[in-house]
Amino acid sequence: MIDRNGVNSRMTAQSVLTTFDDQQLDRYSRQLLLPEIGIAGQQQLAGAKVLFIGAGGLGSPASLYLAASGVGVIGLVDSDRVDRSNLHRQIVHDDASIGMPKTRSAKQRLMQMNPELQVQEHEVMLTSANAFEIMGEYDLVINGSDNFPTRYLVNDACVLLGKPLVDASILKWEGSVSVFMPGQGCYRCLYPQPPKPGTVPSCSEAGIVGAVAGIMGSYQALEAIKVLLGIDSVLSNKTIMMNLLAGSIHTIKRSKRASCPICGTEPTIHELIDYEQFCGLPKREDTELQAEDSATLQDMSHSVQVDVAQHWLDDTNTRWIDVREEEEEYARGHIPGSRHVPYSEINDYLDAWLQEGKRLVFICQIGKRSKFAVRKCLIEGYTDIYNLDDGLLAWENAGLPLSVTQQ
Ligand SMILES: [Zn+2]
Repeated sequence: MIDRNGVNSRMTAQSVLTTFDDQQLDRYSRQLLLPEIGIAGQQQLAGAKVLFIGAGGLGSPASLYLAASGVGVIGLVDSDRVDRSNLHRQIVHDDASIGMPKTRSAKQRLMQMNPELQVQEHEVMLTSANAFEIMGEYDLVINGSDNFPTRYLVNDACVLLGKPLVDASILKWEGSVSVFMPGQGCYRCLYPQPPKPGTVPSCSEAGIVGAVAGIMGSYQALEAIKVLLGIDSVLSNKTIMMNLLAGSIHTIKRSKRASCPICGTEPTIHELIDYEQFCGLPKREDTELQAEDSATLQDMSHSVQVDVAQHWLDDTNTRWIDVREEEEEYARGHIPGSRHVPYSEINDYLDAWLQEGKRLVFICQIGKRSKFAVRKCLIEGYTDIYNLDDGLLAWENAGLPLSVTQQ
């Protein structure tokens, strides 16, 4: 356990046994020079187990720097596979790893960086059902998730398990980073309620500069090293906010909130809850989650690229479904002959489509939401079904025609 000052008694006891050979002393020589690290600090790092939620934009630089610094064990939680659109910021992966599980791709790269490292892959989606089991064996958690249900889940699990959490978020040219030490406040103290669904865009909707992910992920690695070494100046009770387009950096002081429902004086949350529901999103049943995990494996065979899909335009046996939420988006430009059925409404049509027996092609702006539509249909037993790879973005890029609805 790491206490509120960041001192890890178990880790210190273990690390007494760690001695370094000449190659290791050479590898870490430049950080061994620092009085805050030295041999004792290097032993603490070697005895530490750090869990990354997400092997993406933040997890990439953070895990690379922690692997290089000599942390003993790194755990990676991610159920996604490497996509070409990840590569401009997720620098732990490369072109050769497209299509590979992110945990495996990241493990390979981290082991190349430091062969002495142990990497544990958790190729699953973090849920209320598995969070304690996965997070329980680690000393510190680095959150690089990109959605609010996971952010609240990771926070609550860390509070209930007494684990330090290094949190960060990024969007466009901006980022923020915070450290939550056990007993000193949590993410809910800062943000008691999640934003309304749809009010905060994601990186896949609003964009992100790769180097912003690099800076904020590196900042997480830095703070994690400080926590593991028990350095006082860890970013606890503070949040750093950076606007890297404007070049401005602000530090916000924060404090533990007495009325916090999980770490306050009279907590009302004593166990993990349904975080989709808490964030106002449709509840996902466990069976659906499990089916989604197995469906991940099938994504590759149920996606179609625009150069193939364009030949289906005149095929009367193909039904094109545009699952973007907003009618206006569809009206501004859609694939000729496609029908607009927002993702939130597709349940109403599943039976009819299944009976009709036509090939289904799902479309959205970038091919992500439509991938979920494909998974939903796979669960219902559809087989002749495809996700348009990279969505309308790829369609437009290829110079293919779009129809406009006259308002
Ligand atoms: Zn709190």
